[in-house]
Amino acid sequence: MLAQRGSGLPPGAAIVPVTILTGFLGAGKTTLLNRVLTESHGARLAVIVNEFGELGVDGALVGDDASSVIELANGCVCCATRGQLLPSLYRLLADDRQLDGILIETSGLADPFPVVEELAHSTLADHARLDGVIAVIDALNFDRNLDSAEAAYQQIVGADILLVNKTDLVAADIPGRIAKGVRTLNAHARIVDCARCDVPLEILFDAPRASSCAAQRSIEVEHDQRHGGFASAVLAVDEPLSGDRLAAWLGDLPASVFRAKGFVRLQEADGVVEVSAVGTRYVLQPAPRDAAKAVTGLVVIGRAMPIADLRQSLAACA
Ligand SMILES: [Zn+2]
Repeated sequence: MLAQRGSGLPPGAAIVPVTILTGFLGAGKTTLLNRVLTESHGARLAVIVNEFGELGVDGALVGDDASSVIELANGCVCCATRGQLLPSLYRLLADDRQLDGILIETSGLADPFPVVEELAHSTLADHARLDGVIAVIDALNFDRNLDSAEAAYQQIVGADILLVNKTDLVAADIPGRIAKGVRTLNAHARIVDCARCDVPLEILFDAPRASSCAAQRSIEVEHDQRHGGFASAVLAVDEPLSGDRLAAWLGDLPASVFRAKGFVRLQEADGVVEVSAVGTRYVLQPAPRDAAKAVTGLVVIGRAMPIADLRQSLAACA
C-alpha cells in the first residue's frame, strides 16, 4: 500500500535528507527548530512537529510558512501517531517543492529508534534518506530526565549529534561531567555545548550517521516504561489572567509537572502570551504572530499530576 502511495512521487527527484530532532521535555528542541527555520541559510526545509499533548503548541510556535509545517499532535510519534509519519513525509515529498531537507521534531518523550526504524524500512528510500539524529540535552535537568523515562536514555544512545543545552544555567564543571556520562552511552556522537541552542547551523546538516550501529545498543523497552508513566493534560484558559498570579502559579508548580506550555491572554497586556515552563523555571513572552490563532490554554506533562488542583489554581489566576 505504501509502495502505491510512493509511486505518486515525482520520478527522478533528488533524494531529500531527513533529520530527526529529539530531546527530552523542555530541552530546547523548538528553540533550535525556530533558529533553523528563521536564520538565512538558503535551504528549503519542511518540518514535521510531533507533540505528546493535545494542544498543538509547538506547531503554532514554529515558522511563518504554515504550508511547510505538518503537525502530528495528540500523541507521541514513537507510538500513538506512528502511522501518521510516513503519510506526512509522502505529502511533503509529493508537493514537488524541491526540498533541501525535512526535519522531524519528535515529542519530548519519544524514543527515536522506532522512528529511525520506520524510515529505514519504508518504501521511501528512493525519495528520502535519514541524514542524522540530533538530540538536545537539558544540562539543567540532565539527571532528573535520565531517571524519569527510558526515552531520555534512548535519545542519547540514538543520536549522531548531542547538543548539551542551557550551559549558561549550570555550574562550569557540569557540561564536562555530562559529556563524560554521555560518552558511556554513545561513543560516536559529536557533543556540542550551547546556550539557547545557539550553534552554527552547518553542524546540524553535516551529521554523518555515526550511530547507525546504535540500534544494537538500544534496549527493547515496553511502551509504558519508555514513557516512564508520563501523561499530559490540557488546562483550558478562557479568561485573561493576572500576570502576577500566573507568575506565582508557574513558580509554585509541583515537582510532578515536568513541563507546562501554551498560550494565554493577560489582563496587563494586549495579544497572546506564550508560556513555557520546565521544572521551576518559566518564561512568559509575547507569542509569535501565527500563534494568535492558537487556542489559549496550557498543556502540562508530568507524572501523577494533581490535575484537578492545577485546573482550579490556574482558573483562580483570572
Ligand atoms: Zn511514544
